[in-house]
Amino acid sequence: MKTLKIAIQKSGRLNEKSVEILKNCGLSFENYKSSLISKVGNFPLEILFLRDDDIPEYVQDGIADLGIVGENIIIETNAKVSYLQKLGFGKCSLKIAIKNTCDINEIKELEGKAIATSYPVILSRYLKANNITAQIRNISGSVEIGPGLGLSDAIFDIVSTGSTLKNNGLKPFVSVMDSEAVLISTQGMELNAEVLELVKRIQSVLRAKA
Ligand code: ATP
Ligand code: ZN
Repeated sequence: MKTLKIAIQKSGRLNEKSVEILKNCGLSFENYKSSLISKVGNFPLEILFLRDDDIPEYVQDGIADLGIVGENIIIETNAKVSYLQKLGFGKCSLKIAIKNTCDINEIKELEGKAIATSYPVILSRYLKANNITAQIRNISGSVEIGPGLGLSDAIFDIVSTGSTLKNNGLKPFVSVMDSEAVLISTQGMELNAEVLELVKRIQSVLRAKA
């Protein structure tokens, strides 16, 4: 029988909580460091440690059966996967922010503006749904410096406390989506006894926390 595989983030904001929830399920495994795959000692499961951006595709293609990743990444990568369970961590909002000095008030005033982002898919869907034509500047990180450098009029990014915005002379303008970490599975995969047991354990860990 094929060993079940679950993909989680290798390092970053979701890593610690992903490891914690699996450990709280009673799974014993080495936390990556030496290897990008860990075998669970007391359950027929392997853990793959990946960059979060790659997780939806691994799960979509069935290379991993399960995954833990932010909803924002699933939507951005357009992956076709099944949602099994919201996990209650990694919560954040994706917002459009503008310069402090910019005095626009309505979203239609974004028409014709240049917006820097690492989330072009989510942004373009939002703009399209609101009948706005704007220029999307796709950059991979530190989008907040864009407006100060004259690269863009606005940015679209993950905002949590808002302090990064403030430090770069920006203010939130409109919230486009809220996201949290979710447990996903390959579409159409067989929900065998092991999968059901694992999902059941994850759900009881979540219930115990609530
Ligand atoms: P990787 O190296 O795996 O590609 P990354 O740098 O792209 O990592 P992180 O910054 O670790 O990603 O964020 C991972 C996910 O954590 C985000 O996609 C989002 O779902 C969630 N998240 C929650 N709060 C925040 C936040 N304040 N800033 C960024 N991401 C957050
Ligand atoms: Zn990433």
